[in-house]
Amino acid sequence: MNTGVEPTQAVFSQGYDANRDLQTAPHVEIRDVHHVYHSLEGETVALGGVSLTVDYGEFVSVVGPSGCGKSTLLSLIAGLVRPTSGSVLVKGKPAKLGDPQVGYMLQHDYLFEWRTILDNCLLGLEVRRQVTRERKERVLQLLEEYGLGGFAHRYPDELSGGMRQRAALVRTLALDPDLVLLDEPFGALDYQTRLRLEDDVARILKGSGKSTILVTHDISEAISMSDRVVVMSRRPGTIRRIISIDLGEGVEGPLAARRSPRMSEYFNLIWKELEE
Ligand code: ADP
Repeated sequence: MNTGVEPTQAVFSQGYDANRDLQTAPHVEIRDVHHVYHSLEGETVALGGVSLTVDYGEFVSVVGPSGCGKSTLLSLIAGLVRPTSGSVLVKGKPAKLGDPQVGYMLQHDYLFEWRTILDNCLLGLEVRRQVTRERKERVLQLLEEYGLGGFAHRYPDELSGGMRQRAALVRTLALDPDLVLLDEPFGALDYQTRLRLEDDVARILKGSGKSTILVTHDISEAISMSDRVVVMSRRPGTIRRIISIDLGEGVEGPLAARRSPRMSEYFNLIWKELEE
């Protein structure tokens, strides 16, 4: 029977019901996703049945052992890879590559050394032929907010590691995505820079109401920045536990969170889950 749908698309959209999903959809919904990579060396089952929803404005972190499929999960949401089975919905529709409302940032900053910081940050808009005076102003304002106001016309090799990551984040935010995917964005930074950047990123992303999914190895970072922490099992990755974080009244930002008395309780809980 010809359904008019390509086989891969049919698998990708499995469980997708346009009428139901669009009305009640959370920002991201992952339903029973299995993912298998095929290579010359054989098959790797990366994800073994993952279901997760992320609501609008939520900050969710994903922690788990190396190779358990955390980056695969982000790639699926960004539409870079399609699940072998199950469905990945963003705003109730199958995830698709190049959605301007989804920003994806990796550990490596991928700044072009021959472009100024401003020109690097305008790249996404340029590719989409969307550079206007207002948008350029907005990017300059973001650079200002991230402490890079004086560096717009400098080149990447004139900036420290922390500043380069800030610039990469501004580039991600330049298209004004409402969903931000962060894959170990602070991994290569020294401890002090990392803490400061976590603080700024959490403040700016939460303050602007964006939904964020952060993949990290750092349990304290996950607890201190997030509304919920997703703990994954060893490969093939499944979700062991989802922990809602409540550090108490008046604990504002990751730096203060790290000093909160409840921090160590959550740390021990997550550590135990990862150990088992
Ligand atoms: P994590 O981010 O948790 O470290 P990944 O999602 O990067 O895990 O990878 C999950 C598993 O899938 C790993 O065993 C990895 O080697 C494998 N993998 C990832 N990408 C590919 C690929 N393109 N081809 C083959 N195997 C892959």
